Amino acid sequence: MDTSSHENFPQLNTVEGFYFDTRNTISAYAELETINQVMQRCSYYNDLLSKTVPGSDVWKINHAGGEPVQVSAHTLQILQTAASVSEASQGAFNIAIGQAVGLWRFKDQQPRLPDPQALADAVARADYRKIELDGDLVRVPADMQIDLGGIAKGYIADCIADELRELGVTSALLNFGGNVITIGGKPDGSAWQVGLQTPAGKRGADFWAAVPSRDSTVVTSGMYERGFDIDGVRYHHILDPRTGWPIQNGLLTVTACTKSSLLPDVLTTAIFVLGAEAGMQLAHQFGVQAVLLFKDGKVTYSSGLDIVFVRPKD
Ligand code: AMP
Ligand code: MG
Repeated sequence: MDTSSHENFPQLNTVEGFYFDTRNTISAYAELETINQVMQRCSYYNDLLSKTVPGSDVWKINHAGGEPVQVSAHTLQILQTAASVSEASQGAFNIAIGQAVGLWRFKDQQPRLPDPQALADAVARADYRKIELDGDLVRVPADMQIDLGGIAKGYIADCIADELRELGVTSALLNFGGNVITIGGKPDGSAWQVGLQTPAGKRGADFWAAVPSRDSTVVTSGMYERGFDIDGVRYHHILDPRTGWPIQNGLLTVTACTKSSLLPDVLTTAIFVLGAEAGMQLAHQFGVQAVLLFKDGKVTYSSGLDIVFVRPKD
């Protein structure tokens, strides 16, 4: 190993930013100013893709009353990827469930279940095949809403990583709400180690496994991310598009590893909905390696995946 090669690297700097309703970090061997500049670009993507920002592409689509809306190339690419995984997963991934997602008030102080009839009505209208893409125009029926919560962060993480690369950054680790991307390896030539968060453990401190990563992504979806407990039942944010209720299939987290982040972000959500067997098949169909952690502690992962298990602390 050439130990002199990293002497000219700037020190490791970390910048945090709260966007897309989540905490995002960029750690890079780069000047703080460069990292800050790129992190601030998140506002642009937030204002483009958030369904709650009036005037965003998603807001316009959801408020067009069934009329076509002109959108950016970013939004089109996301919608095209969503359509392909929706098709491949037979609707397990379904961005048309916007109304059902909106009925779950995960951020309310007092946890409350949605009205079952309202939920059933919302999913009955949620047909991803009715999202029409025509050039740069998008049309959804007036009684349907889209939600990009399961896909947008992956796309944005890819864009932000590209912007860092364009500014000459060659060594960085980004974490956008569970979408981890690495640029290069570490300056000493070793790979970054991406920890897989222990669901019940301390955020950013307790990991049950680690995946080495170099110019690649490690994306995790988990039922511990967002949700509430009522009478011992965990109601979380990954919904069964057929019912509108959170998926309860024994899975705790799903991690997918590949080159860029958009596809694994979609796939982790889809795999969570499909469950172990069909989920693993979907991952392999898209050439992505996956790790599934079950509530009972069991783990399944793609053969050939480089993963290191961390011994639980005594
Ligand atoms: P993720 O953390 O990437 O798994 O995404 C979860 C988010 O995706 C939720 O907070 C919802 O906004 C959205 N979502 C929930 N269930 C689904 C689903 N079955 N298909 C597509 N998006 C979903
Ligand atoms: Mg996702």
